[in-house]
Parts: sequence; structure tokens; C-alpha cells
Amino acid sequence: MVQLLQEYVRRPDRLVSLAGLLDNRIEVGRQGLRIGAAATMAEVAADPGVVEQFPVISEALLESASPQVRNQATMGGNLLQRTRCPFFRDVGYAACNRRAPGSGCSAIGGENRWHAVFGTSENCIAAHASDVAVALVALDAAVELRGAGGQRSVPLTDFYRLPGADPHIETVLEPGEVITAIAVPATAAARRSHYLKVRDRASFEFALVSAAVALDMDGMHIRQARVGLGGVGTKPWRVPQVEKALSGASLDPAVLRRAAAFAAEGAQGFGHNDFKIELMQRVIVRAIETVGARA
Ligand SMILES: Cc1cc2nc3c(=O)[nH]c(=O)nc-3n(C[C@H](O)[C@H](O)[C@H](O)COP(=O)(O)OP(=O)(O)OC[C@H]3O[C@@H](n4cnc5c(N)ncnc54)[C@H](O)[C@@H]3O)c2cc1C
Ligand code: SF4
Repeated sequence: MVQLLQEYVRRPDRLVSLAGLLDNRIEVGRQGLRIGAAATMAEVAADPGVVEQFPVISEALLESASPQVRNQATMGGNLLQRTRCPFFRDVGYAACNRRAPGSGCSAIGGENRWHAVFGTSENCIAAHASDVAVALVALDAAVELRGAGGQRSVPLTDFYRLPGADPHIETVLEPGEVITAIAVPATAAARRSHYLKVRDRASFEFALVSAAVALDMDGMHIRQARVGLGGVGTKPWRVPQVEKALSGASLDPAVLRRAAAFAAEGAQGFGHNDFKIELMQRVIVRAIETVGARA
């Protein structure tokens, strides 16, 4: 939010601080993990229960931003951060449907190396920016919301909206509603999970492509796989067709490559970002091999 204010992307009349109002507890139990929305990224990344039972969450956070940002930023704020599309963040570009509805899109037909290949519309192709959201989607996490109408729980995959005709409406959050917590169910796969992020420089940089993988293993075979992708979708992207192809598969590299190739189904490049379609397949394979090697 501070960056958006500094760059005149947001010009609110009034800002309401949530500091001190929301829960910041991190609880790991038999049912799973519950993270209060006010917990900082650094606190969650370092929590021993998270590190041991949900390593993909800790790794995704440690691969995000910088220590200074992680010490300050909350989990709720991270899930609600805005896209890093450079045209959205530079008011010098008049055309951006997400910033100024109806103004057009500077990325379609323009410079679009950072943009999405899944979930795009003719109005917006901006990639979702949060790393930890990719890990949480892979683990079937839900967000707990509270507003004047009461409380509700929404699976994180359904929390984010595709851009469609209204890219400026990014989530199903109602006016006045806040995220109070994130709930992650306990699964066999969560313990054997990993986040791999490919980016232009080694730190303080957003993902070109990332993969969150979680494997339930039967010896050297995959019983069930969960695969989330970052940097490629207009929201954190799950690839069920890859997960299905991995079910019962061995860790043989050729088998993994064949399964990862299913990720290309439905992907659409826009020129400069075509490379992401090949890169995401390689990232999936490498992430699975890393989890396999830890066995
Ligand atoms: C230089 C830089 C590099 C970064 N790199 C990465 C990266 O590599 N990966 C990554 O994932 N992130 C990255 N980030 C994003 C960073 O993690 C987010 O800026 C941060 O998580 C925002 O958290 P915050 O608590 O400051 O949220 P704020 O900026 O305070 O809030 C963000 C938005 O969420 C709303 N909000 C906050 N909490 C709640 C809540 N509980 N309920 C409802 N609405 C809420 C606010 O009103 C606001 O609209 C980077 C940020 C910077 C500045
Ligand atoms: S991709 Fe989306 S955020 Fe980027 S310029 Fe186009 S409309 Fe704006």
C-alpha cells in the first residue's frame, strides 16, 4: 500500500489501520495450521511447526521480498497485494483497466514478459504476485473472513477472481470485510512439499515462474501430487491435469517430464512471455525431484 501511495496509483481520502485489531497467532494442531491474518511473513516462515509440517509455506515466504519487508508485512496484506504489472504501477501509462476501468491494457500488444499465460481476458493479462498464495492454494487452504454480515470461510482458489470484464475487482471480499485467518488442512503431502521460484535476480524479486509441489509418496512412487504455479496465472494456478498424470508415477525424470507437459494445456502466450510455457514444465520437474531427493 505504501508503494502505491508513493506512486499515486492509489489516492484514498482516508486510510484505516488494522494494527492491533486482528489475531496474529500461529497454531499447528492435528487438524492443520491456522494463521492469524496479522502474523508477519517472518513469524510464519520461522515457526517450527510450519517449517516441519508445511515446509512449502515457509520456503515460499523466505523466497519473498526482503527480510525488512517480511518483518513488517502481514499474511493478510500479502494475500491482498496488487499486481506488479509495470503499467498498473506507473500512472504515466493511461491505459490500464485494472487501475482505471475502461481505459484499455498497455500490456496486450505491448511489453508483456512478466505477464500471465493462464486465466487472462481481453481486458487484463496481469500475473498474480503473491508467492505464499501459490503454496496455500496447492495445500487447499481457505481464508476466514469477517464483516458486518458475519463470518465465512472461502477456499483460497475461489477467493481470487479472474480478470474477466472487471479486472479491478480482484477478490470476492465484500466492502467492510477483512481476512481474519488462513486455515490449512493437515495432509500427508504437506510434510513433503517444496517451493521453487525462478526470477531475474536471486533475491528481492518477484517470480517469473514458480511451483509449489506437495507429494504423498508410497515408497518411490507418487500416491497423490498437488501442484500450484506462480508467475503464470492471473491468480495462483493449480494444474489438476498434471496432478492426475503424476498419480501413481515414479520419480523417473522422463515420466516426470511427460506429466509436467500437461501444464501447457490451456496456456496462451502473448509474445514476450511465451517462454513461460516451457519454463513452467521444467520448474515442476525440478521441484518434484527436489522433494524426491529429500525422501
Ligand atoms: C520491494 C518489494 C518486494 C516484494 N517482493 C515480494 C515477493 O517477492 N513475493 C511476494 O509474495 N510479495 C512481495 N512483496 C509484497 C509484500 O510481501 C507485500 O507488500 C506485503 O505482504 C504487504 O503486506 P502489508 O501487511 O504491508 O499489507 P498492506 O500493504 O498494508 O495491505 C495490502 C492491502 O491489503 C489490505 N489488507 C491488509 N490486511 C488485510 C486484512 N487482514 N483484511 C483485509 N484487507 C487487508 C490493505 O487494505 C491493502 O489494500 C514485495 C513488496 C515490496 C515492497
Ligand atoms: S495487464 Fe492488467 S494491470 Fe497490466 S496494463 Fe493491462 S489491464 Fe493494467
